[in-house]
Amino acid sequence: MKAIALFSGGLDSTLAVKLIKNQGIDVVAININTGFGSTKDRLTHMKSMCEQVGAELKIIDIQNEYLQDVLFDPKHGYGKNFNPCIDCHAKMFAVAKRVMEAEGASFLISGEVLGQRPMSQNKDALQKVLDESNCEGLLLRPLSAKRLAPTIAEEKGWVDREKLEGIFGRNRERQMELACEFGLKDFESPGGGCLLTDENFSKKMVDFIKYDTFEVRDIPVMKFGRHLRLAEGAKLVVGRNQEENAYLQAIENDKYYHLDTVGISGPHGLLSKSATQADKELAAKIMLTYTKATQEGDYAISFDGAEHKSTPLANRDALKPYTLS
Ligand code: SF4
Repeated sequence: MKAIALFSGGLDSTLAVKLIKNQGIDVVAININTGFGSTKDRLTHMKSMCEQVGAELKIIDIQNEYLQDVLFDPKHGYGKNFNPCIDCHAKMFAVAKRVMEAEGASFLISGEVLGQRPMSQNKDALQKVLDESNCEGLLLRPLSAKRLAPTIAEEKGWVDREKLEGIFGRNRERQMELACEFGLKDFESPGGGCLLTDENFSKKMVDFIKYDTFEVRDIPVMKFGRHLRLAEGAKLVVGRNQEENAYLQAIENDKYYHLDTVGISGPHGLLSKSATQADKELAAKIMLTYTKATQEGDYAISFDGAEHKSTPLANRDALKPYTLS
C-alpha cells in the first residue's frame, strides 16, 4: 500500500506522513513548486523532515501550469492578497492525483487541519477543493480525519481511522505533543510561507500585470530588490544589499537590461528593455541616487555594458512617486 502526501516541509504535513507511515503504509512526499514558495531554500529542511519520518521526497515543478490555469483567473477568487488559495489547493490535489496514478499509489494525504485557516480551510472550502480536483474520497487528512467523513482508505480498512487525529482550529498543542511523541527534531520551518499571501509582493504582482504579460521567467525578478515603476511605464528593480545585488546579477531574462554603476560603488539593477529613452535616463538617475554620488560629479550607468552619463536625483524623496516596495 502506498500513499502520496502533499508535503510543505512544515510540521503538519510531516505529522500527516508519520501517522500514515505508522500504519505500515509507504509514503511518497511530494512538494509542489508553484514558483511562489518561500525565498529561503527549504529543500534541506524538507529532506531532513522526510528522512525523520522515512518518506521519499519528490519536487514537482508546476510553475508554467500554475500561471496558465490558476493565478490570473481563479474561479473562486483571491484571499486577502494575490493568493488564489481555493483554486491553488484544487490544482495541488489534481497534480497529486496525477502523481498517485503514475506511482501506482492508492490514496492521497495532506497535513490540512480543519478550522486552522479561517478562509481556505473551513469545511466548505475543503469540499470545493475536493470537487474541483475530483479527489472526493481519495484525500485523507490524518490530522483532522475524525472530524471528517471517512475516506476510501478508511472505508476499505487500509488505514485504521481510530489511530488518526481529530484536531480542529489554530491551537497547536496536539501537534506539539505528536512531534514530541514521534521524536521529531528541528521541525520549525525556515523562511516565510507563500509569497502570494504577502501584501507587498501582491502589490508588485498587481502592478506587473498592468504593464506586461507575466511569465515563469518573471518570477525570480519579483522576489528581491526595490521595485519601481518609472514615469513612462518601465520596470526598474534595484538591489538593496550585496546579497540582493548578487541575486539580481544572476538573473538571465532578456526582457531586462542589467544596470551597474560605473566609477562608483552602487547597487545592481534590472530595467525593462522596452524602456523609453526618458525612462532609461530616469533609471540611471535613480541608480545613482542609491549611491554616494553628488550632483556635481561625473558618473555613468552601464546598460548591459553600454555606458550612459548621468547624475543622481536631488534626494531620495524624489524616488517616492516611482517606488512600489
Ligand atoms: S497560501 Fe499560497 S500556496 Fe498556499 S494555497 Fe494559498 S496560494 Fe496556494
